[in-house]
Amino acid sequence: VAAMAEGFATCALCVKGYLRPQRRFATDPYTAESIFLCACSGCAALSLSPQPSPQYIADQYAGYFQRRSPDTRIKVPAFLWMLRRLGISLSGKRVLDAGAGEGNLVRAINLAAPTARVTAVEPLWKPELADDLEVEVIAEPFERFIAHYAGARFDVVFLLDFIEHLQAPRNAIVELAARLLKPGGQLVVTTPNSDAASRRLFGRMWPQYKVEHLFYYSRASLRAIGDAAGLTTVSLRTHQKRLPIEYLLNVGGSFGPPLLQRGVRWLNKLVPRPVQRLSITARYGEWLWVASKVPVSETGL
Ligand SMILES: [Zn+2]
Repeated sequence: VAAMAEGFATCALCVKGYLRPQRRFATDPYTAESIFLCACSGCAALSLSPQPSPQYIADQYAGYFQRRSPDTRIKVPAFLWMLRRLGISLSGKRVLDAGAGEGNLVRAINLAAPTARVTAVEPLWKPELADDLEVEVIAEPFERFIAHYAGARFDVVFLLDFIEHLQAPRNAIVELAARLLKPGGQLVVTTPNSDAASRRLFGRMWPQYKVEHLFYYSRASLRAIGDAAGLTTVSLRTHQKRLPIEYLLNVGGSFGPPLLQRGVRWLNKLVPRPVQRLSITARYGEWLWVASKVPVSETGL
């Protein structure tokens, strides 16, 4: 920590505060460097510094989706529930899902709004998981997609459990808003909430802490990014999710702090199957941020 403290880096989210190391987070096996969890003196968001090497992050993603529930479609009802609560009409709209994973949000959009035209960006896309979907798939990293796809204009962009993985999220969202979002278009973001009560409660065992989660956002950091991107925040609140117990036990037993994983795997053996099929509505330490690109006519310009 002393070595880090000599050179304070500027926060990549608010670009005003500086990073204060909180604790050693991990040791990168490829560079042998210590990675620190740092808090911003300005916006209070957390970030990993230095960022893990590409090889270390790639290791975390190896078999990423396979480590989850054997039935990947278990999340579709949860996304349908979220879409109903969001109340954003997707019918006939051009929709982007960045970080589409196994395609469960795409599946939910296909069901909820069959006339929506969906584009999914996912470098790890597995066609066999989603060959029955109505979707245009771009199997490349998001940053490259933004650079190549400057002509596309989307009505609604979903970045769900995604921006915490980006190496330069502020720049990506600024570019996205400028080049890919239609005037009046909406951005829907879910991401770990560094202000969450669960973070204080769990301490180092907070399930959101992962090597591949490079950023943990505070309210102020999302506001700062929204301002930089010219977005107007429609709502910024703690995200309520409705998830099957089976899914929670599966994810908790495969990701996050190792001690927590062991505890959850033990719990998985104890909880009977019928109980595991039930869903729990709760706050899981995340933000739900909805922001809109205000049309030029409404800004008075
Ligand atoms: Zn900051």
